[in-house]
Amino acid sequence: MAAAETRAAEALQGWLDGQNALQPPLYDPPWFAGRYRHTCPVRADRSTALDLKERYVTLQELIDREEVDGWEFDYSGADEVDVELGIEDTSPRSVAIIYREGRCKFCGQEARSSVGKVVNVADRPPLEGRVAR
Ligand SMILES: [Zn+2]
Repeated sequence: MAAAETRAAEALQGWLDGQNALQPPLYDPPWFAGRYRHTCPVRADRSTALDLKERYVTLQELIDREEVDGWEFDYSGADEVDVELGIEDTSPRSVAIIYREGRCKFCGQEARSSVGKVVNVADRPPLEGRVAR
């Protein structure tokens, strides 16, 4: 993996790690799941689905919000093609992390992915409409 993409992927996952450290969720759903079943204390410990929303955050958004250092990502792409991630345009705008997040409407327990999926924005844009919930 080329150095620039490694930095981008590490920055995105590192940011998600930070979110989870600040507000630790009770449950850890995979980045692609639409629902997560938990034992709900408010519903007499019955198995209850908690709806998860896709969160889609580009590296550029984090740089703009000063949640990661932008200077680390001042690179241009031609010789930084990343085969594994398929990231050819290495601008911060072209790299995003996807994860899932949600809260039980009955008991308020929270779920958030611990491991996100780093994607090329062109290959995997944000979900829209019904599937995005
Ligand atoms: Zn619940």
